[in-house]
Amino acid sequence: MRAIRVSRPGGPEALEYVEVPKPSPGPGEALVKIEAIGVNYIDVYHRSGLYPLPVPFTPGSEAAGIVEATGERVVYAMNPGSYAEYAVVPEWKLVKIPDAVDARTAAAAMLQGMTAHYLTHSTHPLVQGEAAIVHAAAGGAGALTVQMAKARGAFVFATASTKKLDIPRADGADLVIDYTSEDFHEIVMQHTNGAGVRVVYDSVGKTTFDKSLDSVGLRGVLALFGQSSGVVPPVDPSRLAKRGIYLTRPSLGHYTSTRDELLARARDLFSMIENKSLHIRIARELPLRAAAEAHRLLESRATAGKLLLIP
Ligand code: NDP
Repeated sequence: MRAIRVSRPGGPEALEYVEVPKPSPGPGEALVKIEAIGVNYIDVYHRSGLYPLPVPFTPGSEAAGIVEATGERVVYAMNPGSYAEYAVVPEWKLVKIPDAVDARTAAAAMLQGMTAHYLTHSTHPLVQGEAAIVHAAAGGAGALTVQMAKARGAFVFATASTKKLDIPRADGADLVIDYTSEDFHEIVMQHTNGAGVRVVYDSVGKTTFDKSLDSVGLRGVLALFGQSSGVVPPVDPSRLAKRGIYLTRPSLGHYTSTRDELLARARDLFSMIENKSLHIRIARELPLRAAAEAHRLLESRATAGKLLLIP
């Protein structure tokens, strides 16, 4: 079968399109014929070596396809090796795709949608009227987090770069801030009369962290869930003391650690897609062999919405 392989971590050129043996499933595993692959920032971290994996490896954490043995339509996330025509996946990680949802939408929704879900429903379960900041609000995880935060009745401050501001606006954000030219902290403090927000969902990291921390209100939460701008340097815990802030560094794996939790979250996510309360934006579809191009687009901030690779 054809697959992308990384033999040595590095830039996008490390993603080689090669012929590899078709894998075979062991006990408790399924062979999935892949129809659509979701591209995520975590794939960049695997490729570059920021999150090291033993080499050689096939990157990719998410896909939708068909179980070879049963014909069932499934989607999964948080399992390495999806940049390929086939993948072996532990059965407990597979979620059945509802009939009304196509494979591309499922692949586009799973990892980032489940992330938006745990952030807004579990890490800090937003309630009506609470103020929240969502950074990179035109991005994959960001746009879905804005939509879910709005559905829970939050007041959403959404940040994005200049050309992408229409996306959080369309998703119902209450105040959209261009964080490349405006000071989001100042704007948030003005609008909250100095109180700050209940929660900041920060996937940008290095360039936003300090101001995110300063924007959290009394006993509020800073959920640092990514670092698209770079890794945040070590933090002195006494910086949390000013307002009794909770700092967390969550991962989707922590919020889908059992089959029951995975299925409950996925059920919620797919019902939002089916009843059209959640809008999944597919920015571009590229052939699997163009994985390097997909990574270049993601890393150069050229995307708004989801990138898919099609085997
Ligand atoms: P996005 O679609 O959000 O793409 C990244 C976005 O970050 C860019 O489009 C850009 O938006 C913004 N950004 C700001 N500064 C930079 C920079 N210097 N370089 C590149 N991008 C920048 O990607 P994802 O939704 O896939 O992931 C976002 C982050 O969240 C990643 O760090 C990812 O690992 C993490 N993540 C974590 C999860 C978890 O459970 N912990 C799960 C899912 C994602 P703009 O141009 O508007 O600034």
